[in-house]
Amino acid sequence: CGIVGYVGPSAGTKSLDVVMEGLARLEYRGYDSAGVALVTGDDVFTEKRAGKLVNLRDALAADDVPDAVTGIGHTRWATHGGPTDGNAHPHRGGKDGKLALVHNGIIENFHALRNELLEQGVEFRSETDTEVAAHLVAAAYERTGDLTDAMRAVVNRLEGAFTLLAVHVDCPERIVAARRNSPLVVGLGDGENFLGSDVAAFIGYTRRALELDQDQIVTITPDGYEVIGFDGTPADGRTYEITWDAAA
Ligand code: GLU
Repeated sequence: CGIVGYVGPSAGTKSLDVVMEGLARLEYRGYDSAGVALVTGDDVFTEKRAGKLVNLRDALAADDVPDAVTGIGHTRWATHGGPTDGNAHPHRGGKDGKLALVHNGIIENFHALRNELLEQGVEFRSETDTEVAAHLVAAAYERTGDLTDAMRAVVNRLEGAFTLLAVHVDCPERIVAARRNSPLVVGLGDGENFLGSDVAAFIGYTRRALELDQDQIVTITPDGYEVIGFDGTPADGRTYEITWDAAA
């Protein structure tokens, strides 16, 4: 299973290209479904399919795919809910579905969180553990108006292992990502930045990377990044040059 994220300088098809190439380079990790979300100025477009990447590619070929500055992608290894189109990621959050979120890992306490959300009248569209995080981050965003603050509020309520990426239509040039006992690395470009489960996801675009610690949140925009701990403390991360030749 794998995760890819991209924020770039201008609306175009590059976001989708980077995300799809990243997912292909992460195929070796194994998966049963795949999906993408693209953020435009006024919408979040998602497409997702059970099965190999070719199924997602075929679905996208039939779609009216919007230009976007920001894209996230996911390959799933199902742990909660069968490998169906509906359980594939991204999952939308909020009544209006303005948030899209992908997740690798397991949210151990999802059952209690799901019951809490059901009591609040939230409607679930999947059987995944992940969907609770999508609704919780969307609700926290409604309260705080800041996607990074929203992610921080939610990860502190989650138990288990997770890499999470969230995008929201209200902040189209931003991806907020969090990790706990699960892989996540940042790729640093020139006016564009990347996220991946490992550097293979973006090796075709940049050789500069940023290593994060566990229990950290990174927010990327086209021009920069910011790292904080789950407790809110600012952190630096460690930048390094990727030296091995992934093109081989
Ligand atoms: N637990 C999540 C699910 O079953 C994510 C699995 C993964 O790591 O891909 O949907």
